Amino acid sequence: MKRVVIIGCGFLGLNAAKTLGNKAGVEVVVIDRHNYHLFQPLLYQVATAGLNAVEIAAPVRSILSGYRNVRSGSIKLFQILPFLRFSSIHVRYWCFQSA
Ligand SMILES: Cc1cc2nc3c(=O)[nH]c(=O)nc-3n(C[C@H](O)[C@H](O)[C@H](O)COP(=O)(O)OP(=O)(O)OC[C@H]3O[C@@H](n4cnc5c(N)ncnc54)[C@H](O)[C@@H]3O)c2cc1C
Repeated sequence: MKRVVIIGCGFLGLNAAKTLGNKAGVEVVVIDRHNYHLFQPLLYQVATAGLNAVEIAAPVRSILSGYRNVRSGSIKLFQILPFLRFSSIHVRYWCFQSA
């Protein structure tokens, strides 16, 4: 089983997670400093009071809930230390099941 750690749940991270979602032989861990995905193109509508903030921010956990092999967690990364196997040690500790 391969473990893929996706850092950041913007458009890129979200699409990567969906692409790998429910694929055999892959475990996906998505981490972001926030627990929501922000739809940035509509930020200006929130700034001008055209939309509420909750209308452009959706919980990562619920977006990815349909993918059984995808887990998500909310932490802010400061440093990546591959030689310490940071992802396999700390991510396992912090993450929770998305489904
Ligand atoms: C106001 C506005 C309007 C836009 N309009 C358009 C448009 O009309 N069309 C278009 O194509 N593009 C538009 N863009 C650009 C588009 O939103 C970005 O190109 C796109 O969001 C980039 O996606 P990304 O996944 O690379 O990065 P992001 O969407 O920025 O995602 C990065 C993620 O990483 C997380 N993160 C960052 N640092 C850390 C850390 N240290 N630890 C943990 N998590 C971290 C962040 O919380 C974030 O969720 C717009 C942008 C803005 C701001």
